[in-house]
Amino acid sequence: MAEPIRTGDDYIESLRNRNLTVFLMGEKVAEPVDHPVIRPSINALAATYDLAVDQPDLAAADSSIVDAPVNRFLHVTESADDVVAQNKMQRKLGQLTGTCFQRCVGMDAINSTFSVTFDIDAEHGTAYHQRFTTWLAEMQRMNFVIGGAMTDPKGDRSKAPSEQADPDMYVRVTERRGDGIVIRGAKAHQTGAINSHWFIVMPTIRLGEADRDYAVTCAVPVEAPGLTYIYGRQSCDTRILDGGEIDAGNALYSGQEAMIILDDVFVPWEHVFMDGEFEFAATLVERFTSYHRRSYVCKSGVGDVLIGAAALAAEYNGVETASHIKDKLVEMNHLNETIYGGGIAASHESFQTDAGNWENDALLANVCKHNVTRFPYELGRLAQDLAGGLMVTMPSQQDFEHPEAGPILEKYLQGRSDVSTEDRMRVLRLIENMTLGRNAVGYLTESLHGAGSPQAQRILIGRQSDMNKKKSLAKKLAGIGE
Ligand code: SF4
Ligand code: FE
Repeated sequence: MAEPIRTGDDYIESLRNRNLTVFLMGEKVAEPVDHPVIRPSINALAATYDLAVDQPDLAAADSSIVDAPVNRFLHVTESADDVVAQNKMQRKLGQLTGTCFQRCVGMDAINSTFSVTFDIDAEHGTAYHQRFTTWLAEMQRMNFVIGGAMTDPKGDRSKAPSEQADPDMYVRVTERRGDGIVIRGAKAHQTGAINSHWFIVMPTIRLGEADRDYAVTCAVPVEAPGLTYIYGRQSCDTRILDGGEIDAGNALYSGQEAMIILDDVFVPWEHVFMDGEFEFAATLVERFTSYHRRSYVCKSGVGDVLIGAAALAAEYNGVETASHIKDKLVEMNHLNETIYGGGIAASHESFQTDAGNWENDALLANVCKHNVTRFPYELGRLAQDLAGGLMVTMPSQQDFEHPEAGPILEKYLQGRSDVSTEDRMRVLRLIENMTLGRNAVGYLTESLHGAGSPQAQRILIGRQSDMNKKKSLAKKLAGIGE
């Protein structure tokens, strides 16, 4: 039996020599692990392993599936406390990395697939749940990274999957054989795709009878034949190639999104967890997004870093005691804790599913994610306000190191005399990185569109608000008869 992965370093080694087909900027990447643009995203995932070693209370949990402690990202929740603990771990990792550490997608995918397979079996007499649990036990034992692949390219948004001009716009089953199925299509902007060991393919929208072939959930190893990955660019990602590390802003960590092309990929039956049960596609999407929308408390951890950076920038400028500066920092904390409050409350309000695991409250989860689509932008605005314009006009690390230009910059870009110009530059570059640069991808645009764009949450908030109950409360107090 292969040795399980334990530390961040073990994890990084486990990604080597996989012979993946990965394109980045028009070139095939020979070894993603050693690619300087990709490596910071791998480091962010490695932090999820090291945290489980350093703080097992926070990032590990006892799994009754394998009867042993497992990484919390692979744990099926066994209590409401387990759901709450996920959020605490996510905030911590946001604080440690300042970006998207990519592993929550898999955590939310396994928890939703766990209960949906149970429900399908109850309705159809299938055996998906046992299959799924057997596969998951191996993932837990090996401590693998699981990705969740939900978002299809979608083509013409006004048409169902089976009505598209090109039938491959949503992932579908193209062949059923004695030993398994063959699937084709693509999944767009998949978080941590090539940093995973396996991913779970899931449907992305409500499906009808005609879409039966699109109702497929299955597990696929990242190195399966027929897979191609096209790496997504991130703003300022090539700063890391310029030499030095100051201009990168956060030279250690970044997120990762890639497009996955599935060109007739074979999946053996033991890894198929839904095939044709179209009426459960919407259930799976709703459960997954409910978990994932409150997972976005990760951004409150990233917000902690940004607030700290804004406070440091003010301090280095010598303005930290001005009342409007203090007030802006209070405002930033208020917004950030509001994000956290919605998510952690959703987790505390968890209920037990028929399959036995625990699921967070959907209304509060959608409120959390909806706040995440707005507040990081306001937090970013306030951080830029406190940083000042130098954040975007500052010369490069190379200029600071130049024998002629360097001393000039040192002299004129000094803030408070007891703070080094370099430290001032470093903190401004971090704010730039998080609000305009590479990690603004994770902090801003991923906050807006990840786990569903704002309108998706508004639909669910509308659906889950129980307006009839609210109206009858009002009628009762106003003395209006039913
Ligand atoms: Fe986790 Fe947040 Fe990244 Fe989603 S955006 S995978 S919740 S860190
Ligand atoms: Fe995401």
